[in-house]
Amino acid sequence: MSSTIAFIGLGHMGSPMAHNLLKAGHTLKVFDLVPAAVQGLKQAGASAAESAAQAVSGVDAVITMLPASQHVEGLYLGEQGLLSAIAKGTLVMECSTIAPESARKVSRAAAERGIRMIDAPVSGGTGGAQAGTLTFIVGGAEADLQAARPLLEAMGKNIFHAGEAGAGQVAKICNNMLLGILMAGTAEALALGVANGLDPKTLSNIIAKSSGRNWATELYNPWPGVMEHAPASHEYAGGFGVDLMLKDLGLAAEASMHARATTPLGELARNLYALHSTQGHGKLDFSSILKLYHQKG
Ligand code: NAD
Repeated sequence: MSSTIAFIGLGHMGSPMAHNLLKAGHTLKVFDLVPAAVQGLKQAGASAAESAAQAVSGVDAVITMLPASQHVEGLYLGEQGLLSAIAKGTLVMECSTIAPESARKVSRAAAERGIRMIDAPVSGGTGGAQAGTLTFIVGGAEADLQAARPLLEAMGKNIFHAGEAGAGQVAKICNNMLLGILMAGTAEALALGVANGLDPKTLSNIIAKSSGRNWATELYNPWPGVMEHAPASHEYAGGFGVDLMLKDLGLAAEASMHARATTPLGELARNLYALHSTQGHGKLDFSSILKLYHQKG
């Protein structure tokens, strides 16, 4: 069944996700604070709204894909917040990676207005967003997830229900803490091999079929030229920004303090990405962490 959807936040992830909804036959009203971000979608048949409030009028569902907690709270909450413009019964899918407490706060405010909301952060990177193979990690009521499923399936391949509101964000933060650690570890191992005379491609091929293999060695190698499609081979442009990874490692640190958990490797990774960001690399893809280990990286 075709739906009318408001899609807000058309950056590296939101834009390809919205394209896949159009391809699946849905009607889209799109909005981004940066007008240039909507051009490609307009050409593909979406209608461009002049504001977020205009985008959500008369739709069946709302999807947001924004950078961080402050953007999500800033958009939805407050007197002029978007929740006051969304009709009762509308299904809202909040796909950004944000603090679990922010997700719960917005979800509670939505429920008070009779709006159904799930947190549905994603995994799979820009490649997964383009291919429509994302993993959605959902927090919220089972019935709302079932209602969202046909739309999520147009953008992704795996859909998990992590628990109540905010649980999707907790699972996503755990995943990304591990990803940050794995990428730094992969960069460190490749730099060690190269410093000892190995060819980075040969070493990568060996690790990819040995016990050190991981998502970075299989799909997202940090060494330039090893994988043609990876951001490392394109000056680390596009992909998942260092500052977004730093935000997620910060969320992991907060969650760790909140629960009195122990996350020494997560903290070390957070410090490495923070150092890398302060060296002027915040907008590069996070695999550029290799530059900390290898100057030509
Ligand atoms: P991005 O910075 O490329 O895009 C965010 C977009 O939101 C921008 O176009 C910005 O203009 C827009 N925006 C911000 N505030 C807005 C508002 N109030 N109204 C309308 N538009 C607004 O970020 P991204 O890489 O697309 O990531 C989005 C989210 O997805 C982040 O939470 C990130 O952590 C998460 N994520 C990213 C990746 C990745 O590989 N890039 C992978 C998984 C999850």
